[in-house]
Amino acid sequence: MKFKYVIVGAGLAGLTVAERIANVMDEKVLVIERRGHIGGNVYDSYNEDNILIHNYGPHIFHTNDREVYLYLSQFTKWNDFWHRVLTYVDGNLIPMPITVETINRLYNLNLNCFEMKQFLEEKAVDVGEVKTSRDVAISKVGRDIYEKIFETYTKKQWGVDPAELDTSVISRIPIRFNRDTRYFADKYQGMPAHGYTRMCENMIKNRNIKIMLNTDYKDIIDDLEYDTLIYTGPADEFYNYKHGRLAYRSIKFEFETLDREEYQEAPVVNYPNDYDYTRITEFKKLTGQDHKKTTICKEYPCSEGEPYYPFPTKDCKAQFALYEEEMKKETKVIFLGRLAEYRYYNMDGVVRRALDVFNML
Ligand code: FAD
Ligand code: UDP
Repeated sequence: MKFKYVIVGAGLAGLTVAERIANVMDEKVLVIERRGHIGGNVYDSYNEDNILIHNYGPHIFHTNDREVYLYLSQFTKWNDFWHRVLTYVDGNLIPMPITVETINRLYNLNLNCFEMKQFLEEKAVDVGEVKTSRDVAISKVGRDIYEKIFETYTKKQWGVDPAELDTSVISRIPIRFNRDTRYFADKYQGMPAHGYTRMCENMIKNRNIKIMLNTDYKDIIDDLEYDTLIYTGPADEFYNYKHGRLAYRSIKFEFETLDREEYQEAPVVNYPNDYDYTRITEFKKLTGQDHKKTTICKEYPCSEGEPYYPFPTKDCKAQFALYEEEMKKETKVIFLGRLAEYRYYNMDGVVRRALDVFNML
C-alpha cells in the first residue's frame, strides 16, 4: 500500500500533523497506533458509572502560545478552569505551588508579599552554580521547605534523589511572591468541554486520515510504501535498542469510584511525605461533571510499564544523544513528541512542535 505520509502514534503529536496534512495539504495519511484508542496519554473516557475520567492521569490544558490555543479551539470549546492543587504537609492541606498562603499556613505566620520574599531569602541556601533539581529548590526556599514539599515527593515520582535530576524537573514549579494560588499562570487555560477524546476525534474528521488501532508499526511497515514517516514512539525502540534502553518513568493509576458526591477539597491533592502514591485526582473537580458518585485516582510511580516521562538526568540525556546522532542520518523519518524526542513536553509544547514540523514538510 502506498501513502505519502505515514504517522506512528495517535497521540496529540501524531494527530496534529495528521490533521494538518489532511486538511491543509489535502493529502492522504495513515496513522498507526499500538493502543486500542486515539489520543495517546490525553485519552479520557466515561467509566462504568458514567463519570468522565482521564485514563492516564490528570490533564490540564494551559499555554501562553496563542496560536496553539486557537488551533485546538477549532476542535473543542473550553470550560473555564483554573487548576488548583493542595499538598498535605504536617497534617495540613496547603496550596501548591509556593505562594504567600503556602508559607503562612506552613509556619502559622501572617506575612505579606514583601515579608514572604524576605523570609525565603533568609532560608535560601547559597549552592553556587545551580546544577540539579535539589539545588533549584534549596537555593530558592532552603532546606526545611525542600524537605517538607519537594524531597520525598520527587523521590517517589522519579525513584531517585532530586540531586540526581537535572534542573528542569523542580523548575517546573514556580515560587510566587503573591497570593495567586492557581497551579498554572498561563494566559490560556481550560478543560475541553466534552473531553480530550472528543477533541481528538474532531481533529481527525477527514476522509484523508486512515487510523489503524491495535497495530504496532513494526508489524506492517515493511508492507507499506511512503515518502515520509513521522514517528512519535520511543526513540530507543525505533533503533531496536542498539544504544541500550532509555529510561522512561511510568505510573500505575489506581481508580476508585466512591458512593459519595465529593472526596477532597481540590481537583488534585499531593502527598509528598505520606503513603506510596504521589497524588490523588478527583475527576469531577476537573471536568465540572454533576454526579451522585465520584471517581478518584491514586498515582503510584514505577519504572516498569507504559513509558510516560523521559528520565531527566545527565546520563540519560547523553544516551539519548547517541540516538539523536542516528536520527540526523535519516532522510525519510521525522521524530516528534515526548517519547521520540525524549523531552518532558506539555500538551501545548507538543502541539507547537507538531505545527512546526508540519510547516517544514
Ligand atoms: P503520547 O501521548 O505518548 O503518544 C504517542 C503514541 O504513540 C501512543 O499512543 C503510543 O501508544 C504510540 N506508539 C508508541 N510506539 C508505537 C508503535 N511501535 N506502534 C504504534 N504506535 C506506537 N500535559 C499538559 O499540558 N498538562 C497536564 O496537566 C499534563 N498532565 C500529564 C499527566 C501525566 C500523568 C502524563 C504522563 C503526562 C501529562 N501531560 C500533561 C503531558 C501530555 O500527556 C503530553 O504532552 C502529550 O500526551 C504528548 O503527546 P505525544 O503524542 O508526544 O505522546
Ligand atoms: N514536585 C514536588 N512536590 C510537589 C509537586 C511537584 O516535589 O508537590 C516536583 C516533582 O519532582 C515533580 C516536579 O516537581 O516531578 C514537576 O511537577 P509537576 O506537577 O509539573 O509534575 P507532572 O504534572 O508533570 O507530573
